[in-house]
Amino acid sequence: MKIIESNLSFGSMSRRSRTRRIILHHAEASSCTVQDVHRWHKNNGWAGIGYHFFVRKDGSVYRGRPEGTVGAHASGSNSDSIGICFEGTYMTETMPATQKAAGKELVAYLKNKYGIGIVQRHCDVCATSCPGTNFPFSDIAGASGSVSVTTTPSEGDGDKTILKEDGWWGPKLTTRLQQIFGTTVDGVVSNQFLCYRDKNPGLDGGWKWISNPSGYSPLIKAIQKKVGAKQDGHIGPATIKAIQKWLGCVQDGCFSGPSPCIKKLQEWCNRQ
Ligand SMILES: [Zn+2]
Repeated sequence: MKIIESNLSFGSMSRRSRTRRIILHHAEASSCTVQDVHRWHKNNGWAGIGYHFFVRKDGSVYRGRPEGTVGAHASGSNSDSIGICFEGTYMTETMPATQKAAGKELVAYLKNKYGIGIVQRHCDVCATSCPGTNFPFSDIAGASGSVSVTTTPSEGDGDKTILKEDGWWGPKLTTRLQQIFGTTVDGVVSNQFLCYRDKNPGLDGGWKWISNPSGYSPLIKAIQKKVGAKQDGHIGPATIKAIQKWLGCVQDGCFSGPSPCIKKLQEWCNRQ
């Protein structure tokens, strides 16, 4: 069996002190990737994907959060369990044979590795329909035998793009920040006040400047929350000062081009 390293970036997580059981889930989404689930869970305010493994319908197995950390998949049962999620929605769908075979291998591997035999459904420990009535639980939970495992890097970059630390805030920095803060990833900072464009030449590309925007940017709002600024979703001198304070830069309330503070922001992103 091959485990694909997903190369995702996480917030802080604690180590799991013991591993007593495996808990099985479905994604409750017919088609999704490990990156999708990672983004959804970041949107919940979690450190990242809550499951330790993600099994796709094509039988590929992806690593989720690091195996030795406490998951976020079954409330009250995370401290001593490993969570596996299966792509699909098994209240209505039937699991493809390749996915079932991969799930069996993964369960057998983890049982051996940790010397454990307990496998549960999410619904065995929480009030939920997960992993669905069509989920082939007894087949997967009953899997045993020795399985050899290799790991391979993700085919893509996961969500870890290394940014050029050049002091310009364009679409690439926006994309990376959107991944880190769990907002929609499109490389665009929407709904910003036009009057701040020319004062901040470092904000270069992917910024939607409007003379009187009716909306706001969810990314800027998330950053404002992080740096302790008023959460209105608009960049301006107060928000920029708060970002500068957070990053330990000179607090002049604007981003020159290139900006030493944007460079620090890029460095921060590259450390996440
Ligand atoms: Zn579940």
